[in-house]
Amino acid sequence: MTSAAKTLKDFNLRHTNGREEVLDLFLNAGHALAHNDVEHGLGPDHDRVTIYRTLRTFLDKGLLHKVLDDEGGTKYALCRETCAQGHHHHDHVHFKCDNCGQTTCLDQVHIPSIALPQGYDRKEMNLLIQGTCMDCNK
Ligand SMILES: [Zn+2]
Ligand SMILES: [Zn+2]
Ligand SMILES: [Zn+2]
Repeated sequence: MTSAAKTLKDFNLRHTNGREEVLDLFLNAGHALAHNDVEHGLGPDHDRVTIYRTLRTFLDKGLLHKVLDDEGGTKYALCRETCAQGHHHHDHVHFKCDNCGQTTCLDQVHIPSIALPQGYDRKEMNLLIQGTCMDCNK
């Protein structure tokens, strides 16, 4: 069994070739992917709607999380911590490289705790740091 197929099983997701291929892309990429990246990575025999639904399912099940990109775009990245259905536990920082354009999860770097004024409830926090990544700095 491939590791993508095993992950689907671990998360009680029905196995389809489409799901396995999408997950494989993320496992191999090592950085966040936008919807378009997934679409191009899969080739022409996958339609947009199915890809969209697959990403949606993976988000809901805790396999992927959203990464807010600069310019308001959304990318998706693998959850490395154990996220349960509907609950994402991480508060790590994302890094966008100005040179190669890749956005990466910095799993070890956590967003510092931020005190909100009374009357504000926090639901989500996103921190995107921009600069030059490790590979581009070599
Ligand atoms: Zn997560
Ligand atoms: Zn880079
Ligand atoms: Zn992340």
